Amino acid sequence: MREKVLAALDQGTTSSRTVIFSLKGEVLAVASVPFEQIYPQPGYVEHRPGDILESQLRSLREAVLLSDTDVRDIAAIGISNQRETTLLWDRETGECAHNALVWQCRRTAPEIEALTAAGHTRMIREKTGLVPDAYFSGTKLKWLLDKLQLRPAAREGRLCFGTVDTFLAWNLCTGRPHVTDATNASRTMLFNIHTQEWDETLLNLMDIPRAVLPEVINTSGFVGMLDPKILGRPIPVMALAGDQHAALFGQGCYREGAMKNTYGTGCFMLMNTGGVPVMNDSGLLTTMAWRLAGQPVYALEGSVFMGGAVIQWLRDELNLLASADESEALAASVASTGGVYMVPAHTGLGAPWWDMYSRGLLIGLTRGTNRRHIIRAALEAIAYQSHDLMKAMIQESGKTPEALRVDGGASVNGFLMQFQADLINLPVIRPKTTETTALGAALLAGLAAGCYRSVEDLTALQETDLVFTPRMQQDRVQALLKDWQRAVERSLGWIEKE
Ligand code: ADP
Repeated sequence: MREKVLAALDQGTTSSRTVIFSLKGEVLAVASVPFEQIYPQPGYVEHRPGDILESQLRSLREAVLLSDTDVRDIAAIGISNQRETTLLWDRETGECAHNALVWQCRRTAPEIEALTAAGHTRMIREKTGLVPDAYFSGTKLKWLLDKLQLRPAAREGRLCFGTVDTFLAWNLCTGRPHVTDATNASRTMLFNIHTQEWDETLLNLMDIPRAVLPEVINTSGFVGMLDPKILGRPIPVMALAGDQHAALFGQGCYREGAMKNTYGTGCFMLMNTGGVPVMNDSGLLTTMAWRLAGQPVYALEGSVFMGGAVIQWLRDELNLLASADESEALAASVASTGGVYMVPAHTGLGAPWWDMYSRGLLIGLTRGTNRRHIIRAALEAIAYQSHDLMKAMIQESGKTPEALRVDGGASVNGFLMQFQADLINLPVIRPKTTETTALGAALLAGLAAGCYRSVEDLTALQETDLVFTPRMQQDRVQALLKDWQRAVERSLGWIEKE
């Protein structure tokens, strides 16, 4: 008998990817198709709906060809996606009313200001777990309904709103299911994470007709059958999950207290907090980890704005590096930063500092400082910021992780990973597969398709590349953290509030 496989569609911000996995979680093929980013004016970011769909289909067909898989052997498909990006289309024709408003798009900042000025921050935070922000889908959908004057059509049920998971399910499956999973719903700022339902008060506040919203389903479960026109056969689509949530699952963070950090342009850290949504005042988002068989599992989420981006900045703006890869050897070639600290608050600081008015700084410079010290300080800053996030998560949740699981482009940097382990005084585990998001989507689908008996079965699939164990003296760590903290304090509130 031939081996069954799982396919993950990973619809990202800059490219659509498909990864074919064996049931053991090995990568058999990857295909990636980039697509155009549209910037109609400063701060605005859009994607063409057709580009999202076509690039995704192309990557699917390419990956299937590359893997040499017989389509009949694809047991199930899982979808992971860029979160919060908002689409609106005609229920009859499928035609989109507008380009997709991408999560990064700041055009609804005025709507957010109006909501916060009217004193709704606390209520929104309590119901949705989110800090009100233009990232989330709610105000984006409101903007579309307002600007295109589509509220009457929405009220009459002639329109469908969707995040990217919804859009793909609707377009790729027979019968056009209008669904989203609980993780994607939790990023709309319209979903009550406690009741697991669209929230009437929030819908009224943003004047969103209920008829436009998708049905919220489990993260792992039947979504629909892939239209046989696409690959020649129907294949069950069995999972939908936002990318960070899929990565948490793909990293095997099934237990309470388990956590992962993705070191990309920014860093995204998530901690599984089990059945309890941890509400907090540290500026951490309370979100879904996933929902399996109707059981919500919650997570805390925080992000570092300048993660790998700080290395890009050293390379592209300061010309201190020829490539990001070089940073590891250069940082390791000096014994320390020589007292130099970099606070990469170039765009403000996120949790637990939450200061939009801070700006980047480099402090502790002496005549002996050279580029190696600065490069090292930049890498260390990524780890310090992640340490601060982790500490806030541990304090708020009262849970103690056994390790930090890592992925993303900058996690290849051994110096950074070792320094991270030293700071958090816990092992840092880097898995063999770098495809953790896609793996999560595939495993969630495989679980629903009966390829695995239970989540416990999946634990055995986690393969480790390297474990970085803490080796720095704790008093040295404490001294470094103290100086880092002093440097951060100097960067706070640097620019004048308007
Ligand atoms: P994204 O998904 O956000 O585009 P990736 O996961 O592809 O990001 O990671 C890219 C980021 O990782 C870039 O910001 C880059 O500067 C950083 N990066 C890549 N390689 C290294 C390295 N060896 N050391 C440090 N940073 C790196």
